[in-house]
Amino acid sequence: MIPRSFEYYSPRTLDEAVALLQKLGPEAKLLSGGQSLIPMMKLRLVSPEYIVDINRIPGLDYISESDGHLRIGALAREHQLESSEVVKTKFPLLADTAKVIADPLVRSQATVCGNLAHGDPANDHPATMLALGAKVIATGPQGQREIAIEDFFPGLFTTALEAEEILTEIKIPFPPPRSGGSYLKLERKVGDFATAGVAVQITLEDAETCTRAGIGLTNVGMTPIKAKQAEAFLTGKKLDEATIQQAAELAASESQPMDDIRGSADYKRDLVRVLTARALKHALDRAKGGA
Ligand SMILES: Cc1cc2nc3c(=O)[nH]c(=O)nc-3n(C[C@H](O)[C@H](O)[C@H](O)COP(=O)(O)OP(=O)(O)OC[C@H]3O[C@@H](n4cnc5c(N)ncnc54)[C@H](O)[C@@H]3O)c2cc1C
Repeated sequence: MIPRSFEYYSPRTLDEAVALLQKLGPEAKLLSGGQSLIPMMKLRLVSPEYIVDINRIPGLDYISESDGHLRIGALAREHQLESSEVVKTKFPLLADTAKVIADPLVRSQATVCGNLAHGDPANDHPATMLALGAKVIATGPQGQREIAIEDFFPGLFTTALEAEEILTEIKIPFPPPRSGGSYLKLERKVGDFATAGVAVQITLEDAETCTRAGIGLTNVGMTPIKAKQAEAFLTGKKLDEATIQQAAELAASESQPMDDIRGSADYKRDLVRVLTARALKHALDRAKGGA
């Protein structure tokens, strides 16, 4: 289908983009990679009166390191995560995630910030960012504010961003030594959204004892889910088989899946259990220096 007609704006600075969003009001939609917005417009699930395209604003396409954080700018595309050395070596969880999002064509356009800003619990990066303890920076008429990722997804397709705010950066703390992460997703076919996905990031104190665990769940609830009980259970524990299995059971109990074309709620809950155990073992291997 063809989208309804709209007015198109192409600001050249962030200030200009924010001023446009403020002036045009809630009928305006920001366009970054367009890989979610344009299909929705074509299906007429959304019909914004105004499009504010930020693609011509220079300097927003960075993946950089400063002050102990990895910083991902508003126009950094998914494919940049796949080729970034720092991501591959220090944030394998992010590299795992980028690889299983859609297909290379989509990843060449889709932005990491857009993946969060869309507020879709089926998207993969929300779980990853929950596991990593990320923060997002929102830029609006009053300047910048920082939002903890666990406060960013209040409801289905809803985020903590105000209508006139732009998600300009994702900020992820560098993991301490002896950290490892893993993202596992079951999809019906390559390029599909997850039937369920699990992101795990752990830090070890010694060979086996966990000092921090982050666990995020994809597409098993109305919002991305932080498996807080499983995280708390793992903290301070030796990651042996029994502990991993108990944490996996807890993560499954924290999921809130529904029956749909991808499977029954019971099936998806069990999938969360299986994927959590596998992702924890994979993350443990990586934290110990394995591949
Ligand atoms: C065939 C196909 C398969 C896909 N499969 C997957 C998948 O397996 N996993 C997955 O995670 N995703 C998948 N996607 C979605 C894709 O990753 C999207 O691109 C992503 O969710 C949105 O990023 P975008 O840059 O394209 O945003 P856009 O489509 O430009 O925008 C999406 C929404 O977010 C808002 N927005 C975008 N950027 C910002 C910003 N910086 N600040 C404030 N608001 C903003 C827009 O206004 C809009 O409401 C798929 C898409 C397609 C077309």
